[in-house]
Amino acid sequence: MDRRSPDLPLLSIVAPFYNEEAAVETFCRRVRAAADAVHDLQMEVEIICVNDGSRDATWPMLLAAARADARFRVIDLSRNFGKEAALTAGLQEARGDAVVPIDADLQDPPELIPELVARWREGFEVVLARRTARDGDGYWKRLGSRLFYRLHNRLADTPLPDDVGDFRLLDRKVVDALLLLPERRRFLKGMFAWLGFSTTSVDYVRGARSSGASKFTLRGLVDFGLDGMLSFSTAPLRFWIYCGVAIAGLAFLYASFIVVRTLVQGVDVPGYASLIVISLFLGGIQLLGIGVIGEYVGRIYGEVKQRPLYLVRERFPDDGAAPHQAGPRTGSPVSGDKSIPGNS
Ligand code: UDP
Ligand code: MG
Repeated sequence: MDRRSPDLPLLSIVAPFYNEEAAVETFCRRVRAAADAVHDLQMEVEIICVNDGSRDATWPMLLAAARADARFRVIDLSRNFGKEAALTAGLQEARGDAVVPIDADLQDPPELIPELVARWREGFEVVLARRTARDGDGYWKRLGSRLFYRLHNRLADTPLPDDVGDFRLLDRKVVDALLLLPERRRFLKGMFAWLGFSTTSVDYVRGARSSGASKFTLRGLVDFGLDGMLSFSTAPLRFWIYCGVAIAGLAFLYASFIVVRTLVQGVDVPGYASLIVISLFLGGIQLLGIGVIGEYVGRIYGEVKQRPLYLVRERFPDDGAAPHQAGPRTGSPVSGDKSIPGNS
């Protein structure tokens, strides 16, 4: 296929794959067509596919696609690390002047990419693909995600737009900035929002999966939502301070009342019920508070370990170390070692 010309800017399309064998072929066909359209806009394209530890035929199919078309670069992770890590691997691998992360299941239409590129050319650093309808997702998923965004935006310091996913165009500056954020628990949507940069959006209708079922279970989505909220807000910690103050205040009032009553009426034995109710209630509140603190401590532990986000088993074509990684080929999200002093 066409060799990369050094004068034209480069667009990287990045897709994570987890057990998507049924989608690979259509994905490659539609993305190749989108790449041709982008090429007509005087831009080279590379397509980076990250296999996130699929247990089906996804990897051999991706390899075949890469052998047939030089625009493809494929990476095989050593196991399933989760979508956020797989996407980070792809972003780290991308060399483009602009990068578009896209889902492999074609819920995000590749046909929109030329439009994203056109807006980027106008000078925007982030072009969001805003979904005007989510007919492709079920009722409960839509309701759940609506509730999540409401709650998140109440609590977190950087609000999230509720109708965009990971499908968007990012300028090189934005990708580099993102890769500088060293956290291990990655909630990309929140991290993108935190970054800022000049942003515009393009509307589209989110379709149904081209094949297969969503890889996220209800439990997975709840965990994902909690990750998002806990990573971007300490409001859950603060809540327990307010709660504690309110309960302590009530307890003080009640204590004063009892003291006065005892002074006036003398000692009375009944009161067992109220005592047990109060101590159980306080016990529950304390456990909850400890649980919240535990969540944050667990997160600190995860960050402190400084493990790489992902491990690469294989690359094709294998052309030396990836551009954004110095040293061993692991998924440290920091470019080189400069961001973490003492990281040897
Ligand atoms: N995915 C992944 N690793 C995972 C789960 C999902 O790489 O552990 C990929 C998946 O192959 C797809 C994208 O992430 O390309 C979005 O996944 P899915 O469609 O299941 O999520 P949804 O669209 O339901 O949010
Ligand atoms: Mg999907």
